[in-house]
Amino acid sequence: MDDLTTHQCADLYQTVQALRVELQELLDGSVESSKAVDLDQPIGRLSRMDALQQQAMAKANREAHQRRLKLVEAALLMIKQERYGDCRRCEEPIGYPRLMARPETPFCLHCQQQIEGGA
Ligand SMILES: [Zn+2]
Repeated sequence: MDDLTTHQCADLYQTVQALRVELQELLDGSVESSKAVDLDQPIGRLSRMDALQQQAMAKANREAHQRRLKLVEAALLMIKQERYGDCRRCEEPIGYPRLMARPETPFCLHCQQQIEGGA
């Protein structure tokens, strides 16, 4: 077992909290740009397509942020319950370097790859 040290845990807690604030700000700021495009506006066909494309991208971004924020909030809960840092699938320690890179991840690298690979 390589459990997280108290110091590492404190570091990660700060990282997760900072990430939560950042995502919340991104979500607050993206409300305007993901609003429906007004198709009655007298704009050319190309710029209308641009607007639709931008809207779709903003929407996809927003959904990705929302998904990530949910993981971040789950991670914060795990930290409070002192269950943070273990893979939710195989229950092995996720490892400090991976947690620092993706503090919201609930899975170890091995399980993540299996999930993404559809196995
Ligand atoms: Zn795992």
